[in-house]
Amino acid sequence: MTSDNREVARRLARHIVQRAGGYLRNTVHIPNVTCANCFTPVDGYQHCLRCNQDRRAYGVGLASTVAPVFYGVKGHQSGYLLHTYKSPSASDEQAKLLSLVLNFSYAVHLECLRMRTGTYPSVVATVPSTAGRVGKHPLETVVDNANLGLPITKLLVSPNQGGDRREVRRDRFALLNPLDVRGKHVLLVDDTWTSGGRIQSAALTLRGAGAADVTAWLLGRWLVPDYGKNREFIGAHLTRDFDPWSCPVAGAYCQARTLWTP
Ligand SMILES: [Zn+2]
Ligand SMILES: [Zn+2]
Repeated sequence: MTSDNREVARRLARHIVQRAGGYLRNTVHIPNVTCANCFTPVDGYQHCLRCNQDRRAYGVGLASTVAPVFYGVKGHQSGYLLHTYKSPSASDEQAKLLSLVLNFSYAVHLECLRMRTGTYPSVVATVPSTAGRVGKHPLETVVDNANLGLPITKLLVSPNQGGDRREVRRDRFALLNPLDVRGKHVLLVDDTWTSGGRIQSAALTLRGAGAADVTAWLLGRWLVPDYGKNREFIGAHLTRDFDPWSCPVAGAYCQARTLWTP
């Protein structure tokens, strides 16, 4: 990368820290403390119950990599951000911040993803809302404005879907143009991972259409402080301000800061 690129990256990182460093918290991967797949706190296991269950049921049909950039903590500003950017009355400041966080995290950690999966994504999709929203979803605008440099393929909500919305199901979504993803590594973007049900359902649809790989890139990993030992986890591990250079792929330190800063 050129020194110009590096200067732009450093400026963007400073801007993110000024805007949201005080309330966003990086996702962290600590073996047996957070799930190796979805970064939720666990009690001494490698994976959380839900990821274990889904992996047993669907294995390689799921997203091979889950990369959540920050924790969206219920009742805290990070949690509000993930909800209110979608409300009709929201100022576009929140959507702009999310675009910036998405743009920066993806650009700077793309090489980390390539090292993990062996390929670069070549097409992007967003997880459609199953809440019956009509018109363009604010997440699509966030992704457009993040300038990821990838063509967009469209997932649609199936009319015949049933069951619990949090379940992983093959029939929850469909692709407008299935040929768009055949043989491709698809970057699947969503704002929030709660149980992973919607995102992994979308991954199954993409894999079903022949996608070679699926990476789920999330803005927020939802965290409920009152659940289990989450409050303890937050107090012990989420104490530092948001660091845009910290890796959402590894959930830890990575080579990005060294590569992008002199
Ligand atoms: Zn998990
Ligand atoms: Zn990284």
